[in-house]
Amino acid sequence: MSHSDAIDLRAAIRTIPDYPKPGILFRDITTLLGNARAFRRAVDELVNPWAGSKIDKVAGIEARGFIIGGAVAHQVSAGFVPIRKKGKLPYETVRIAYSLEYGIDEMEMHKDAVAQGERVILVDDLIATGGTAEGAVKLLRNMGAEVLAACFVIDLPELGGAAKLRALGVPVRTLVSFEGH
Ligand code: AMP
Repeated sequence: MSHSDAIDLRAAIRTIPDYPKPGILFRDITTLLGNARAFRRAVDELVNPWAGSKIDKVAGIEARGFIIGGAVAHQVSAGFVPIRKKGKLPYETVRIAYSLEYGIDEMEMHKDAVAQGERVILVDDLIATGGTAEGAVKLLRNMGAEVLAACFVIDLPELGGAAKLRALGVPVRTLVSFEGH
């Protein structure tokens, strides 16, 4: 990726201080999604390293991962799998607990959403501590999926999430890094 591309995507992301609570810098991608060139560039660049690879499914994490993941799935001609907060999916599900900043929660996907051996790319808007993405990787692997990569528009490297995923053996792709958290 060239330097000018990086600047373009970074400029398309809006930062809201003290949302949803004091001390948090919320990285708002709605401005990037609303910018046709930035949205297309983000989708293209996210999966660029796997262009030409066989990808069976793209799994997106609720809710912003649905928007980007849906576009990525279309781009690479893969199916789309939603990973949701518990209680939202209508059919039989598999579930996993994952750690949040304070406490734990559970996420789930349909039990027939991926088949044994399918090649899956995981997508979300942002990786911070990596707790959410780690849960999603484990859920996919429990179902026999091969997680080819995890792709995020935004990385907060100081929170260590990308390093945590790499330690699990998952290649991580991110497009824009912000200092702090
Ligand atoms: P984590 O599990 O700590 O990696 O948190 C990642 C999830 O929380 C993603 O689904 C993000 O959308 C959301 N998130 C965490 N921190 C931020 C932030 N500073 N701005 C926007 N979204 C965030």
